[in-house]
Amino acid sequence: MTLELTGRHLIAGEWTESETTFRSMPIDGGGRVFFAGTPELVDAAASAAEEAFWSYGYSAREERASFLEAIAEEIERRGAEITEIGAQETGLPTARLEGERGRTTGQLRLFASHIRDGAYLDRRHDLALPGRQPVPRPDLRMLQRPIGPVAVFGASNFPLAFSTAGGDTAAALAAGCSVIVKGHGAHPGTGEIVAQAIAAAISRHGLHPGVFSLVQGGKRDVGEALVTHPLIKAVGFTGSLAGGRALFDLCARRPEPIPFFGELGSVNPMFLLPEAVRARGVAIGKGWAASLTMGAGQFCTNPGVAFLVDGPEADALIGATADALRTIGRQAMLTDGIAAAYRDGVCRVGAAAGVKELLGSSCETRHAAPCLLETTGEVWQCEHAIGEEVFGPLGIVVRLRDLAEMESIAQGFAGQLTATLHMEAGDMATARHFLRILERKAGRILANGFPTGVEVCDAMVHGGPYPASTNFGATSVGTLSIRRFLRPVCYQGLPNEILPADIAD
Ligand code: NAP
Repeated sequence: MTLELTGRHLIAGEWTESETTFRSMPIDGGGRVFFAGTPELVDAAASAAEEAFWSYGYSAREERASFLEAIAEEIERRGAEITEIGAQETGLPTARLEGERGRTTGQLRLFASHIRDGAYLDRRHDLALPGRQPVPRPDLRMLQRPIGPVAVFGASNFPLAFSTAGGDTAAALAAGCSVIVKGHGAHPGTGEIVAQAIAAAISRHGLHPGVFSLVQGGKRDVGEALVTHPLIKAVGFTGSLAGGRALFDLCARRPEPIPFFGELGSVNPMFLLPEAVRARGVAIGKGWAASLTMGAGQFCTNPGVAFLVDGPEADALIGATADALRTIGRQAMLTDGIAAAYRDGVCRVGAAAGVKELLGSSCETRHAAPCLLETTGEVWQCEHAIGEEVFGPLGIVVRLRDLAEMESIAQGFAGQLTATLHMEAGDMATARHFLRILERKAGRILANGFPTGVEVCDAMVHGGPYPASTNFGATSVGTLSIRRFLRPVCYQGLPNEILPADIAD
């Protein structure tokens, strides 16, 4: 198979070059040349996205649903190339990339059926009350309308499901928004082939080519130009807290501030309640090790820290975790930068006073081995730096004096994507009490499971209070994520003839 890569940007249907280039960094060396993004390209893409919105934003739901299905088909048609280039660029195993492709096409089809169903429009109608005293009531109708052109920042750790045609793009296109993706420099070739699939679906459906553009990365000014462009009306982002916060602040400082839906990451605490530790400590330890090392720990839902009351049962659980982690070898990481950040994070946490190493991590160039550290509740509460996310297979186990200390730690947590309780029937009263605390801290609360593996479905919430996300009341996974790219409009007393078809009589 020959990969047909141009190294170019896709700007409103044209494969476009720019003056400067960058080299991709595949796992096996080599690398390809890609044209680097520029603010001028962002401007051209934004103008085309705005122009496209005047038709696409008013298209019928059925038309958009079949367009989303066409993108899924075009991705499947290029499945082998996507896996080949994706494996080279990210070092992810073939099976993972094939699974992620299925998740990506499944997401597109889920949004197709979601918009066909129409419940997402949240249509409301207050009938006119002409005879109401003292003031008559007019006819009032409400409908969710697409927000306008949307910018999407592809994630490094999901080259398909959170990137070019990933969840943010699928949700925005489903809503009726045109989209500009800022490609992630970790997988520009994968991004280009997926963009080819979207371009093919656009021409099959005869849509305005400005409905979708891909500006490859390269320099920081691309992202900045995108979020500050006056024609962009919302941003979807998955990445680091530092990067997300910088872009969020830029959005807030615009003359016209816009929503920045950032999915930023978290340590995903697990609270292991006493009866559960007693009844199945070894199984919990093994399960934690498997979840912690899935995808070399490069998931924002990675369960990075476990809290349990100290004692012989805690020893058994911790021993089982360490034994299971010891059997897991080195895994390739997504980029040299992420591998270096993992090395630094392990050193930083491991060097903190009162932290003991149970299993050390060897990490060379772009590979990582799991690491397990142990500390006490007292140290956890004083040394705030050890609670910061380390992206990779690092687990911290915290031995506590009692449940009161566990509660005080739970109360002290900042926003998280997930929080997990491991419990048995005898833990029910404690779990009920903890649930009230964790509901205020996390977007998703699990019992007796592990948070990696985010189901794409109606009830999913992948978000959480800051700093886990800047989604504030929204989710970046599942059908509810479409709400980020919609805006309610109320139509008061409008004649039926000019009302949008979705709300007219
Ligand atoms: P990142 O550094 O935040 O970058 C994400 C995207 O935002 C990239 O396209 C990047 O562009 C852009 N960007 C970041 N800061 C910017 C700024 N100040 N101005 C303009 N653009 C900016 O995240 P990453 O490269 O995916 O991974 C690095 C770290 O992010 C990881 O070590 C991990 O901690 C975290 N991460 C979290 C998640 C999650 O699911 N929450 C996923 C992946 C990674 P450039 O690359 O061109 O700079």
